[in-house]
Amino acid sequence: MSSIFSEVPQAAPVVVFKLTADFREDPSPTKVNLGVGAYRTDECQPWVLPVVRKVEKLIAADDSLNHEYLPILGLPEFRSSASKIALGEDSPAILEKRVGAVQCLGGTGALKIGAEFLRRFHNGNNNTKTPVYVSMPTWENHNAVFANAGFEDIRSYKYWDAEKRGLNLSGFLGDLESAPEHSIFVLHACAHNPTGTDPNHEEWKKIAEVMKRRNLFAFFDSAYQGFASGNLEKDAWAIRYFVSQGFEIFCAQSFSKNFGLYNERVGNLTVVAKDADNLSRVLSQMEKIVRITWSNPPSQGARVVGITLNTPELFAECQTSGVHGEGEAHLFDGQWPHQHVWPDH
Ligand code: PMP
Repeated sequence: MSSIFSEVPQAAPVVVFKLTADFREDPSPTKVNLGVGAYRTDECQPWVLPVVRKVEKLIAADDSLNHEYLPILGLPEFRSSASKIALGEDSPAILEKRVGAVQCLGGTGALKIGAEFLRRFHNGNNNTKTPVYVSMPTWENHNAVFANAGFEDIRSYKYWDAEKRGLNLSGFLGDLESAPEHSIFVLHACAHNPTGTDPNHEEWKKIAEVMKRRNLFAFFDSAYQGFASGNLEKDAWAIRYFVSQGFEIFCAQSFSKNFGLYNERVGNLTVVAKDADNLSRVLSQMEKIVRITWSNPPSQGARVVGITLNTPELFAECQTSGVHGEGEAHLFDGQWPHQHVWPDH
């Protein structure tokens, strides 16, 4: 009797993870891995940020912590502190209580929950025809995450000018002008993957002007806050500018890279709504989506990030002690000693 799985086709491996596996098996003493962009020591070993080790020890020693399920939307102190680093401590939107968040499984999870919500409730109900625009080129998972959430019309917008080796602003603006109203645009908040090229302030202003006039939805993907300029505030400029212009936005935040917490799957979906009432209805639906997706999120990585961001001394240490330990390098304030390597997983 044949297996009930005998007709299952073999899927192609995910290239960047396959590359990592091949690298591990390669016996060459001179091998170099240009795949996943993750911190390494000079000996090429995974590197845990000193502040992360410190907080992990604090968590382990804290007998008041336990393993109760978190709320469906996640750890409140993580969500609020994560949204604050995206929008700014004194963001008027936060003060007006129209910012909320969903703790997600990495930046990927945040994109997924945002996409599921938008398919259900954006531009009508269950409107799978709303175009979703991703940059050309982009992180390879963007297309599939939105397609898998049910969107049928994934398009690309012009971004990279190969000849000029820089941003194709006129192409980008042209695609914004011709996109159907209410289309969703996935915007890399900073450190665009894979080109490393971001719009400057004047260019972002033009992008925002067209998006506002044409009622386009801005879904920021912020996977590298701190990596572009070396400064958390500067790298959030575009997000904050859009919010200052009255946009309602989603922002998928990943803490995989800037905290080196890749396998802890720490992400946050920040929602900026017009007012508290809209926010509350949106979050109530997000709760339903999370419930049927992973029910509730894991705590360890979110605790590490939440405790760090909420404790001034630890946050300061995180911004100054850097990847090589005390004083030698600067995590968010200055240049990264190890370049982030594109393309990424
Ligand atoms: N967005 C972009 C642009 C990325 O490069 C990545 C990871 N490489 C992600 C999102 C997802 O991050 P995470 O590993 O936290 O899911």
